[in-house]
Amino acid sequence: MSRKKHKGLFVSILLATIFMVAFGGTFFLFSEQSKKQSAQNLTVVTSFYPMYIAAMNICDGVEGVTLENLSEPQTGCLHDYQLTPEDMKLLSTADVFIVNGGGIEEFLTDVAKAYPELVIVDASQDIEISEDNAHVWMSVESHIRQVQNIAAGLAAVDAQNAHGYTHNAEHYCSHLQELAEEEATLKQELSGQSVVLFQEAYAYLAEDLGLTVAYVLDLDEERQVSAGEVSAVMKAIRQQEVSVVFADDVYAKEMSAMVEDETDAVSVCIDTLVRGTYDKNSYLTQMQQNIDAIREAYGVN
Ligand SMILES: [Zn+2]
Repeated sequence: MSRKKHKGLFVSILLATIFMVAFGGTFFLFSEQSKKQSAQNLTVVTSFYPMYIAAMNICDGVEGVTLENLSEPQTGCLHDYQLTPEDMKLLSTADVFIVNGGGIEEFLTDVAKAYPELVIVDASQDIEISEDNAHVWMSVESHIRQVQNIAAGLAAVDAQNAHGYTHNAEHYCSHLQELAEEEATLKQELSGQSVVLFQEAYAYLAEDLGLTVAYVLDLDEERQVSAGEVSAVMKAIRQQEVSVVFADDVYAKEMSAMVEDETDAVSVCIDTLVRGTYDKNSYLTQMQQNIDAIREAYGVN
């Protein structure tokens, strides 16, 4: 090889290297930029557990979404809940805030005032809510609509991932639909039956199952039950031939024991689905357990 050829080869390698570095660099920049655009970070915050589980399913696998929940209140439900400094800090970083609505989040007006840019998605939009009882997620039918509302809300904010949210919501709703169908079958078996509720949240489930609610005693941590209320519960059970009472295993413990002692009714523990593992199937699992427990309590095979 002559010197001239050597020099030529050197020049071409040099040029090729320069070209590669320059082009490669540009290419790298481009790909970084497009990555940033497609993985635009969307911070979604949910107000409490049932909203978080719904959002977990809807955002599953969608790129660039950070999902967070407000700090969990001790009681699970949000009644009289005060936002903590951590909650406010979290909300200051949020793009979207998903709430149950219907008055459950009493702090909502303050949040909207403090963060006017924050998009608030009301899961219960266009869903009929009983007066002073917004435990909408306890109805499977209504929860399906909540999931659809949340997905629509997210798709509106993050159009690029709209398909992902919609697809996930459809998939999740198909599982919820199976539960709703099971409820519909059970409803036929329970026709004419009545129930006493020791939490107002159960009213939505009772409604799904076509049960006649004979009496509601809304028990919580602050609730003192009067002697008059105790006798009203017992009277309702006897007069309306109630065979089953829906109760939780914390606040309704005493009342449940009293009912089982003094009447022929049985108490069945029903989960209000406001706490549990942060597993995306937890609503499905917990509601299935509720349905199974109710079926057993009424002696339906
Ligand atoms: Zn509640």
